[in-house]
This record gives sequence, structure tokens and C-alpha cells, in this order.
Amino acid sequence: MHCGLCLPTCPTYDATHLERNSPRGRIALMRAIADGRLEATEAFADEMYFCLGCLACMTACPAGVNYAELFEHARAEAEQSGALDSPKRNAIRGFTLRWLFMDLSRLHLLGRILRLWQELGLQAALRRSGLLKLLPRRLRELEAMTPVVQAHFTSDLVAAITPAVGVRKHRVAMLIGCAQDLMFSDINRDTVDVLARNGCEVHTPPEQNCCGSLHAHNGEWELAQQLARKQIDQFPPEHFDAIITNAAGCGSHLKHYAKLLEGDAAYEARAHEWDRKVKDIHEWLAQTGIASPAPSAVAKPEQVVTYHESCHLCHGQKISTQPRQMLRAIPGIRLVELPEASWCCGSAGVYNLTQPEMAGELLTRKLKHIRTTHCDVVATGNPGCLLQIMNGARDEGLPLRVAHPVTLLAEAYRGENDE
Ligand code: SF4
Ligand code: SF4
Repeated sequence: MHCGLCLPTCPTYDATHLERNSPRGRIALMRAIADGRLEATEAFADEMYFCLGCLACMTACPAGVNYAELFEHARAEAEQSGALDSPKRNAIRGFTLRWLFMDLSRLHLLGRILRLWQELGLQAALRRSGLLKLLPRRLRELEAMTPVVQAHFTSDLVAAITPAVGVRKHRVAMLIGCAQDLMFSDINRDTVDVLARNGCEVHTPPEQNCCGSLHAHNGEWELAQQLARKQIDQFPPEHFDAIITNAAGCGSHLKHYAKLLEGDAAYEARAHEWDRKVKDIHEWLAQTGIASPAPSAVAKPEQVVTYHESCHLCHGQKISTQPRQMLRAIPGIRLVELPEASWCCGSAGVYNLTQPEMAGELLTRKLKHIRTTHCDVVATGNPGCLLQIMNGARDEGLPLRVAHPVTLLAEAYRGENDE
């Protein structure tokens, strides 16, 4: 089918109106390579990296084309061809994908060094000194995007096992993520608190692995398989009622380990069970029921909240109503719909680092819509989106709070005893 119904939903096609920048155009390119009519050239590889991987086209497609799978294979093909190889690119990929994210103790070490740099005021001093002006524009932009590393990582905030509040109804595992653990460990603590308050015994071992989504989305299929096996070994799905994630980008990948490990005799059957047990936090609470927070005795001003849908939650996992359900359950929140709520904000994994211009255009568009809601808080369920919108709001001087829905729910539970 070449119906083109996906075209109006594709942010890159919307920006350029070029067929090759559309899902249909990209699929035609992939098919030409699969049929041997085209070589995997640099132009092909560039096109695959210009695609956001936002999966809006999958939601729109009436024929059920699995673009997510095609996209991952196409990026792997692009990497195998070596069309984009250069010493600098290979070094960056080697350092990040093959070293840093394969063992999170390395990422933690880097995080602690960065934290010290920020805590001692060296980053602020460097920014004030004007020396950054000597750097090329691209490096200056990257420096401005450096996230603030949390003083405490998840293992400092959360016990390895947190008992349920009251009667235990479920035993769940909670994945703390990689970047999420460094930048948003508070969201992990909030998630554990909310799960416990909703009758879950929560297992959060301090040493965890990356889920491998970064690797799968960047053409490193074998590394993604290695990480998937490690996850299944660490969290045997038969031991838990659910394996919870609060990062949409991870969840979208974590639910497809069976495909990733297809043909692996030792893991394939367990991977199927794993896929069934992985739940996004909004999905899990909507399924099991959210305990209503009691209104705080202390009168608080109403908060106007709008909700930005992370692509990998709404398109990748078809989770759209559940986060709104969670927000509506919180006393004192008025939910205002965001125009184009499910249009990508430009974060898209590391897209804002690799394709800054397109990512910037998407962020500007998102902020324009956010302004029309006159909200106090933007809620969104993915660390990449949180960071992207936080950075955009800061740069434009918007007095906005950007928060995960689970944080707002955790705060409501904590406020129950306010007097
Ligand atoms: S994943 Fe997003 S950017 Fe890529 S083709 Fe589909 S809609 Fe377009
Ligand atoms: S991917 Fe789906 S929506 Fe897009 S052209 Fe093909 S059949 Fe139509």
C-alpha cells in the first residue's frame, strides 16, 4: 500500500515536504536496498538518521506497517555499510554505545565527576568567563544542554526492597534506567513511593543495566541483545507480577525483547513472558487501580497542568488515556489539553544532539502550543521530553514547571497528612 495517510503525521515531511523525508519515502528506500536495487549509501544512512523514530506514522497507518522494526533494521544496515564511518563518529559511538552504556558503573562514575564540576561552581564560572565563546557554535550548543546531575542517585534514595503500604497485593520490579538515574532519580523515588502506596512490594536493586534501547535505535543490534539477556537474568519475569518502567523510550523497547531474542533457545520463551510483564507506570496503575489521594487539609492554589505525550508512550506503546487518568485523579489539578499533544518535541533519544536544527524547530513549535494553555506545569512521562521542554522553557524565560505525572501523584500522597 502507498496510501500516504502517514504523511501529514510525519514531522520531518511536514518540515520539508520532500517524499524522501516521509515514512513512505523511507520505506521505499528500505525496500530498494532489501531488493538489491540500491546500495546503502551515505545519503541512505543520513535519511535514516534524519527520521526521528517518533512512530507517529505507525499510529496513522491503516495497513499496520511495523515501521519501528523497519527503522531499527534500516539503521543497523546503515551502520553495517560503514557509510557514515569517520574516526570522530566511530570514537564517539565506541565510547558511548560500546563502553559507557554497557556497564552503568562507568556512567555513574562520569555522572559523579560531572556533579562535582557543577557543585563546585566550575561549570557556572566557565559560563560566566566568556571562554565558551571560543568554542565552535555546535560545541557551545552542546555545553548549554548539559543536564544537571542529581546529588543522589536512585540507590541513595530507595531501598533495594520497599514494602507495600498496607496489604501487599503485588510484587513488582522497578527499572531505574541509565540517564534517568543520573538526572531524574527523584522520579524513580516518586515511582517507588506511588507503587508502594498502591499495594506493591517494589524490588529496585541498586546495580542495574541499560535496557538497550539506545543501542537498538542506533543500529547496534548485537549489543542490544546482550543487554536484553542481562535484564532477563537480573529480573526473572516469573518472579514478578510486573516489571515497571517510568521512561517511555525504554518501555517502548523493553516490550519487544522476544523479537530481539528470536531464535535464542535459552531466552526466547522467557522473553515472551518478559514482554507480557513489562508495564509503563501509567499503564500499570490504570490496570490495577489508582488509590485516590485524600485532599490535603491545607488549601493550596489550583495547578493548571497540560500533558505532552511522549512519542514512545502514545505511538510506541499506545498509552494515551492512562496518564490523563492519573492526572485527573490528583486533587487540585485542572488538566488543560495541549494542542498537538502527540507531536514530537524534538528530543527523540539523542536526536536533539545529532540533528539540532530540526529538533530546535520542533521544540519551538511545542513551546508555542504550551504557551496557549497558560499552564503552570507541563507533565510528560519520558526523561528526554522532560529535559527538552525544561531546556526550551529556560531558554525562553517561561516560568514553567516540567514534571513526570507520577511526581505529581507522589506529591499528592505526601500532602495527605498536611494540616
Ligand atoms: S518515525 Fe516519525 S519522523 Fe520517522 S518516518 Fe515515522 S513519522 Fe516520520
Ligand atoms: S506506511 Fe502505511 S500509511 Fe504510510 S503509505 Fe504505507 S500503508 Fe500508507
